[in-house]
Amino acid sequence: NLTSRLSGVIKSLRGEARLTESNIQAAMREVRMALLEADVALPVIKDFIERVKQKAIGREVMESLSPGQALVGVVHQELMAIMGGEKADLNLNTVPPAVILMAGLQGAGKTTSSGKLAKWLIDNKKKKVMLVSCDIYRPAAIDQLELLSSQVGADFFPVKVGQQPAAICVAALDYARKHHHDIIIVDTAGRLGIDQAMMDEITELEVLLKPIETLFVVDAMQGQDAVNTAKAFADALPLTGVILTKLDGDARGGAALSVRHVTGKPIKFTGVAEKLTGLEPFYPDRMASRILGMGDVLGLIEEAQRSADQKEAEKLMKKMKSGKGFDLDDFKMQFQQMKKMGGMSAMLDKLPHQLTQAAQNMKVDDKIINRTEGIINAMTREERAKPELIKASRKRRIAVGSGVSVQEVNRLLSQFEQARKMMKMVNKGGMAKMMRAVKG
Ligand code: GDP
Ligand code: MG
Repeated sequence: NLTSRLSGVIKSLRGEARLTESNIQAAMREVRMALLEADVALPVIKDFIERVKQKAIGREVMESLSPGQALVGVVHQELMAIMGGEKADLNLNTVPPAVILMAGLQGAGKTTSSGKLAKWLIDNKKKKVMLVSCDIYRPAAIDQLELLSSQVGADFFPVKVGQQPAAICVAALDYARKHHHDIIIVDTAGRLGIDQAMMDEITELEVLLKPIETLFVVDAMQGQDAVNTAKAFADALPLTGVILTKLDGDARGGAALSVRHVTGKPIKFTGVAEKLTGLEPFYPDRMASRILGMGDVLGLIEEAQRSADQKEAEKLMKKMKSGKGFDLDDFKMQFQQMKKMGGMSAMLDKLPHQLTQAAQNMKVDDKIINRTEGIINAMTREERAKPELIKASRKRRIAVGSGVSVQEVNRLLSQFEQARKMMKMVNKGGMAKMMRAVKG
């Protein structure tokens, strides 16, 4: 991955006071190679390198960072920027039924993604969703969507024999209005390659449906080929976003960089598994970390920040030792430290054996780390300092504020209690006691 390529270069930058055109040359060569390996399109690579150079050259190196680390920071930032920087949400802000139109080549994953997206909207947004198939060219395609509908709990629009795509859309809109659907997802036919008839058809459907979202579905494993397809669709249709499928089959993430760059449209979701739960919102920061080689890059950057954190850590240790006043802010800080240490899996290696068991018992994984932070952030200062204040109505407020269920707030509070108990026991020297508590 990119980090292993860069680590040698980073060492060679040691001792330089600032980044210059000449001393980052070797690093840029490595970045270029890594992106080529990831099957990123050439013009995108060129653009990317140019941006990194501009940002990096002349940059005063922060006191605690080595020039190499600073450079990795810039690369990470620019990877994020090239994928849109911020997470882009699905836009549903319209008079219902909100129409989501799916476009893309055959085999890209349109039908599967339609089903997954319906599931996501039903489970996470509590929407009433109807699925509509305009793929009249392959009878099996309509059956495939009907089956998916029943699997995910969405309604399915019954297509009449011989009904043409435009007529299907008009009828489906009418049906959805009468039956008060919040959202209809319209699956379309794809071809094996870009083809004028397909483009004409979907353009017509777009005009008819006036979708709030027109999503271009593209297979991540297509790598550079995805770029040409993306361009053709972006030129023909007013796309609002992209679903990048089969990311589980492509560890390199090159398509994520290219497609966003070429279409100028944000990736809104990624397909990460064949199963119906295998659709996730797209986070540019996480993808950037993945391309760089997550743990490693965080390690590199955080190593530099460690001196600053040291003070925080010492403060926390003191509190832990005194066994007093361990509150939710401290709990959150523990989680943040975990994150900086490269997530839970990396940390488990570093912990003493007994604590590893305890941590595993608490089933803390990296997703939970982020969510935990979110929940604690939704609390007032008073609540963090005195968790016993948090009763039913406060729990509800915190849950709403952090976008989780009350059960999750409860879970966090009981984890906190467990951690607090653990702290106390460690302090009383009761490791054996603690182990018993953990097992029981
Ligand atoms: P369409 O022609 O664009 O409608 O494509 P389909 O939805 O029929 O998908 C084509 C194939 O890709 C099917 O076998 C899907 O199961 C598979 N597929 C779609 N999305 C994903 C994904 O995110 N991961 C994996 N592993 N397979 C996927
Ligand atoms: Mg299909």
